[in-house]
Amino acid sequence: MSAFDVDLFVIGGGSGGVRAARIAAGYGARVMLAEEYRMGGTCVIRGCVPKKLLVYASRFSGEFEEAAGFGWNVPTPSFDWATLIRNKDAEIARLEGVYRKSLVAAGVEIVDSRAVIEDAHTVRIVETGSRVRARIILVAVGAHPTLEPRIPGGELGITSNEVFHLERLPERILVVGGGYIAVEFAGVFAGLGSRVTLLHRGDKLLRGFDEDIRDALGEAYGRRGIDLRLRRTVERLDRHGGAIRATLSDGSVLEVDEVLVATGRRPNTAGLGLEAAGIEVDRAGAIPVDGYSQTITPSIYAVGDVTNRANLTPVAIREGHAFADTVFGNKPAMVDHSLIPTAVFSTPEIGVIGLSEAAARLRGPVTIYKTSFRPMKATLSGHDDRVLMKLVVDGETDKVLGVHILGEGAGEIIQAVGIAVTMGATKADFDRTIAVHPTAAEELVTMRTPFVVKHPQAVG
Ligand SMILES: Cc1cc2nc3c(=O)[nH]c(=O)nc-3n(C[C@H](O)[C@H](O)[C@H](O)COP(=O)(O)OP(=O)(O)OC[C@H]3O[C@@H](n4cnc5c(N)ncnc54)[C@H](O)[C@@H]3O)c2cc1C
Repeated sequence: MSAFDVDLFVIGGGSGGVRAARIAAGYGARVMLAEEYRMGGTCVIRGCVPKKLLVYASRFSGEFEEAAGFGWNVPTPSFDWATLIRNKDAEIARLEGVYRKSLVAAGVEIVDSRAVIEDAHTVRIVETGSRVRARIILVAVGAHPTLEPRIPGGELGITSNEVFHLERLPERILVVGGGYIAVEFAGVFAGLGSRVTLLHRGDKLLRGFDEDIRDALGEAYGRRGIDLRLRRTVERLDRHGGAIRATLSDGSVLEVDEVLVATGRRPNTAGLGLEAAGIEVDRAGAIPVDGYSQTITPSIYAVGDVTNRANLTPVAIREGHAFADTVFGNKPAMVDHSLIPTAVFSTPEIGVIGLSEAAARLRGPVTIYKTSFRPMKATLSGHDDRVLMKLVVDGETDKVLGVHILGEGAGEIIQAVGIAVTMGATKADFDRTIAVHPTAAEELVTMRTPFVVKHPQAVG
């Protein structure tokens, strides 16, 4: 008889854990998975999926406005937050069920409880106090949003966890943060009709993204009526009747109905028992792992946001899959984190793969192609949005190092372009690709004249 109760114990039923459990079970491993909240994890329950549903909802207002130029007479639309949230919740519950079923179908035993580590091979089920001996433990516990920096009255703010359950649409909302989550929710609330102030301590939104994209998004948000306040922080929050008063570092005071703090996330490693298994977390609270997601303790692996490598669902899934292939499928697999296509579901949307111009310039000579234009739809709608497309090309090898898009459908476009870039496409490959007309994406294969740089970008 085996000395272990299971071959694999997965802690966390999110993107990475669920994939790893299913694939490992498919290889014949006896797998148990513990989830302390709701199956599906952050992405399904309070991340990507509900967020995208809210993004869809928020874009109708623009569509209604644009319709007039195409001959439609749209009666003044009205919006009901409660309906949106109810429908969103029903869809999330459905998806949660799908995740559960897929695990059960794969033969994974589900434990609805928090689980903590007791030693290199032992997990304690908190609900029952029982212990499970596992040959391998996979930590896939994700991360949580923080209300930071701590300020007086900070507890009046909400995080992305609570924003999905607000009882009513705030008339006025202050969104604090400059990363993609802050940017996306600012866009959502603006589209739904709230008065939005977006406050960020940096001088541009979306640090790490290409400077042209950062500039274009700032301008687009300004045009959408989002009150962008940069180089400022919130010093304190006070309750004022039914509202919240935010005192900013420039001395100004804002009165709003909600304050959404989207300034950072922290891995869920506190109280997990990692020390008992000889694992130390880094300064961000993340678990250090090698290329195979193995920790310093050979029987314990970690994937997804808890490792703070690239905190995105498809990356967590890929890491979970690679772990299962390596450990249970006899197919050692590492995840390449160097080229990750990604989207920001702002409105207008952003799609990116590869290096920003600034990052590419640090490596050697580059040629830049870029174009900014009014999308065709705007000619009749009168909308003032612009599309930005930019290619960063290696000046020596002609390889496309980065593609940056801001405009409608950017997320969909970048997924397809990402294949070419991942394959190592050159600018010449882009050039010999026949355009699809009339589309916005055709610009990606029709840009011929390099952009002459007067002031090379600084690293953002
Ligand atoms: C608002 C928001 C929007 C996002 N949008 C996108 C997007 O558009 N695209 C994208 O790719 N990514 C997006 N993300 C990121 C994405 O959600 C995460 O990268 C992904 O969910 C990480 O997967 P994971 O498996 O590492 O962790 P998670 O999905 O967070 O799963 C971890 C699970 O572990 C459980 N858990 C924690 N501790 C324990 C314990 N001790 N015992 C038992 N269970 C435990 C948690 O309850 C959770 O269910 C978004 C995130 C947020 C917050």
